[in-house]
Amino acid sequence: MERDNRSTPELPAPRGTNDLLPPESWRWQEVARLALDTFAAAGYAPVDTPMFEHTEVFERGVGSTSEVVGKQMYTFTDRGGRSLTLRPELTAPVMRAVLGHNLHRGRLPVKLAYAGPLFRQERPQKGRYRQFSQVGIEAIGSSDHLVDAEVIEVGMRFLERAGAPARLLLNSIGHLDPSCRTGYLKLLVEYLDERAALLAPVDIERVDTNPLRTFDSKEPNTIDVMRDAPLITDHLCNDCRRHFDAVRSSLEDLGIAYVLQPRLVRGLDYYTRTAFEFVAGGLGSQNAVGGGGRYDGLAESLGGEPLPGIGFALGLDRILLAAGDEDDGRRGSVTAYVVTVGEAARRAGLALATRLRAAGVATDLDLIGRSMKGQMKDAGRSGAKWAVILGDDELASNRVTLRDMESGEQSAVAVEELEERVRR
Ligand code: AMP
Repeated sequence: MERDNRSTPELPAPRGTNDLLPPESWRWQEVARLALDTFAAAGYAPVDTPMFEHTEVFERGVGSTSEVVGKQMYTFTDRGGRSLTLRPELTAPVMRAVLGHNLHRGRLPVKLAYAGPLFRQERPQKGRYRQFSQVGIEAIGSSDHLVDAEVIEVGMRFLERAGAPARLLLNSIGHLDPSCRTGYLKLLVEYLDERAALLAPVDIERVDTNPLRTFDSKEPNTIDVMRDAPLITDHLCNDCRRHFDAVRSSLEDLGIAYVLQPRLVRGLDYYTRTAFEFVAGGLGSQNAVGGGGRYDGLAESLGGEPLPGIGFALGLDRILLAAGDEDDGRRGSVTAYVVTVGEAARRAGLALATRLRAAGVATDLDLIGRSMKGQMKDAGRSGAKWAVILGDDELASNRVTLRDMESGEQSAVAVEELEERVRR
């Protein structure tokens, strides 16, 4: 097809970003609302933090050895010389806000929910973008295993309601203490050092900076080596072991199936104990719709007092991909369409539409001067159930002609009864 330069914009959206257009934008908004409603039903209140933060929030909160902070952040210096970063994740900003506003001095746990965009400079592919959206919750201020179970249950239920039921992969990665993960990491590094010659070069670097991440390697050689690597779950301290067992039995009480995944580590440094991932079918290689875990060390790394927490983040883009297209064609369509005949009626038409809208009836009308025939055609395209026809006769008698767009039946209706009729 020949390219029409007059209608092709010279400036596309930046690589890895998407324009969200109708009708998909309706569905997107519905699922975001469904998320916040599901979270609210469990007591999670909406929170909204800035799109950008001081870079330190992520460097200290997420940790500079993580892939996200080390390689993917959109960081810039503003005109005042401050280093700012477009948020690549939301747990650290939410914790910053909780600590900054002393929310943890109120009712515990602090339960918050969010839906919004994140920014990571990744290599774009299906389900992986440079601007994407997450919905999620955070429960801050309790280390009780029941919080872990509640958080996971809320995530599973939302995914099911959104049409993207997921499998739950579960692990515990202990805590940073010689009796627990720190001791285990020594064993792991020894194991990896002995096999350094077999590892892929990118992973040799990880052994020093973030050895757990070698479990996430996509390199065949490293994957082979990791098959026999010591597992964190065999080296948990007693407290972490008990916590993990309690989380598991709570999930069983709730009838939530899980798959133990001792190699599940998650990419962000602040995780402790419970780590989980939600995996959906039909997404190919990007099959994780979301994940989360406990981050009992995060508050302290942001300079606050010790404050345990747990949460998850789910990728909205991937949830919509996994749920498939459920567009029923009526989404975004109006209930009524005002058709006017003649100049006087045209002037009265907008007032009539306004009256219907104020009564809660979604109403559209012609705004580019179509003929009556053109207006009827447009009414059809708008998806309206009713055409509300207004001409000189109707104006004189304070009535309208109401046409059922499906059956074609018409009747005269007094303007005062109109709202009532179209709502029925
Ligand atoms: P994370 O914050 O990395 O644990 O990611 C949680 C979820 O967010 C993932 O499972 C994805 O569904 C989604 N997500 C993360 N990065 C991207 C991305 N670049 N593009 C689209 N979705 C993403």
